[in-house]
Amino acid sequence: MVAQELDPLLKELRFQLVVTKAMLGTLDLDQVLYIILTGITHGDGLGMNRAFLFLADEGGRELRSSTAVGPADKAEAHRIWEEMAEQKLDLQQILDQFDASAEDPGARKLAQRLTGLVVPLSATNPPPSDDEKDVPIQAIISRCAQEKEPFFSNTLTAIYPPLDDSAGEPVEFNHIAAIPLILRETVLGVILADNSYNGNDIIPEQMRGLKTLANLAAIAIEKARLHARLKEMAALDGLTGVFNRRHYEMRLEQEVARARRNGRGLSLIMFDIDHFKDANDNFGHELGDKVLKDVAAVLRDKVRAEDMVARYGGEEFVVLLTGGATAEESLAVTEKLRKAIEDASLGGRPAGEITISGGVAYLGADLVEPDKLFRMADKALYQAKQQGRNRVVQAQG
Ligand code: GH3
Ligand code: MG
Ligand code: MG
Repeated sequence: MVAQELDPLLKELRFQLVVTKAMLGTLDLDQVLYIILTGITHGDGLGMNRAFLFLADEGGRELRSSTAVGPADKAEAHRIWEEMAEQKLDLQQILDQFDASAEDPGARKLAQRLTGLVVPLSATNPPPSDDEKDVPIQAIISRCAQEKEPFFSNTLTAIYPPLDDSAGEPVEFNHIAAIPLILRETVLGVILADNSYNGNDIIPEQMRGLKTLANLAAIAIEKARLHARLKEMAALDGLTGVFNRRHYEMRLEQEVARARRNGRGLSLIMFDIDHFKDANDNFGHELGDKVLKDVAAVLRDKVRAEDMVARYGGEEFVVLLTGGATAEESLAVTEKLRKAIEDASLGGRPAGEITISGGVAYLGADLVEPDKLFRMADKALYQAKQQGRNRVVQAQG
C-alpha cells in the first residue's frame, strides 16, 4: 500500500478512536448522543452539515426527534465554519468541552425546529424515487427503520413539516443520509445527516463512516439506558415499588438542605401499620405482602408528584412533603392519608380492617438536623400507637 492510500485510512481510524474513547468515558445519554452527532458534523469526522437523531420508544412503535447538532440555518452555518476555522478546535477538544447546561444554541434551535416530529413505525412507505421533491422526511426515516438498511440520496429533497402545515418554517433537507441504529435485530433509532447548507454530495466513504458510528451509537445507547435503569432499580423497594430506605435517607438530606436554602417548610411523616403481626398470623405472609403493596400504592396515589413515599422497613413507610406546606397543612395531609388507608380494601380484605398510625414532624424556622426530624416523627408515631392506633399525632418541637 502506498502512502497516499494510507493517509485517509489513518485519518478515519483516528476519528473512530476519538469518538469511541469519548463515548466509553460517559454513561450520560445526552452526552453520548452529542458525541455521536458531533462526530458526524465535525471536519475531523465526517464533515457533514447537520446530524439528527430519532430515538425509538420502549415498544418500538414510533421514533421521536431527540437530538440535533449543526447550525440552525445557512447563514449561521457559514459564520460558525469561519469561526471554527479560526479557532482550529479539533474534534477531541470539542468533545472534551461538552457541557450539557451550555449546549450549543445553534444546535438547540435546530432541534427545536423538529420538535414534535414523531414517526410511526406502522405506516409503510413506498421507496422514494431518486429525484423526487419535497418527500416528507418522516417517510425516509420510517423506511430506513423498517428496512433496517442505510439510505442515501444526493438528488431527492425532503421536507418537514409538510407544505400545507402553516406552523413555522418548513425544514428542508437535501443530500440526505439515513442510518438505522440496530442492536440484536431491534431498531433503537435512526440517524439522519445531510449537506443542506453547502450542497456537497455524500460519498460512499461517508456512508461507511456513518455505519461505523451507528454501530457504536447503538451499543452506547443501550449501555446508557441499562445504567439509568439499574440506578432507578437500586433506589426502589423490591416488594412495593416505592423508594427504599437508602434512597429516602439521601433525599431527606437533600430536602432538608433545600428547605434551609429557600426557607420553605418540609414535613416528614412516619406511618406504621397497626397490628400487622396479627394480619400476618391470621391470613398468612403472602396476604401480608399484598397489603404492604396496596398500602404503598394508596400512599403514592394520594400525595403530590413532588412528594416522596418510601418503605422505611418492614411495615413502616415514610412520606416527605416537599411542597412547602405549613405545619397545619402537613397534619391535614397526614390525616388524609390515614383516612385513605382506612377507607381502602387492602390485600382483598374489607375496608377498615387494616389501619395505620402516623407521626408527622415539621421542619420550620428552627431548622433541625435530618436525624432530629426523623426522631420527632418517630416519637409522634409512638404516641399515636399509645393513644389507641388508627390516628395521627403531630410532633411538638
Ligand atoms: P403495632 O400496631 O404496634 O405496630 O403492631 P404490629 O403487629 O404491626 O407491630 P410489630 O412490629 O410487632 O409487627 C410488625 C410485623 O410486620 C411483624 C412482621 O411479621 C411484619 N412484617 C415486616 N415485614 C414484612 C414483610 O415484608 N412482609 C410481611 N408479610 N410482613 C412483614
Ligand atoms: Mg413496626
Ligand atoms: Mg406495626
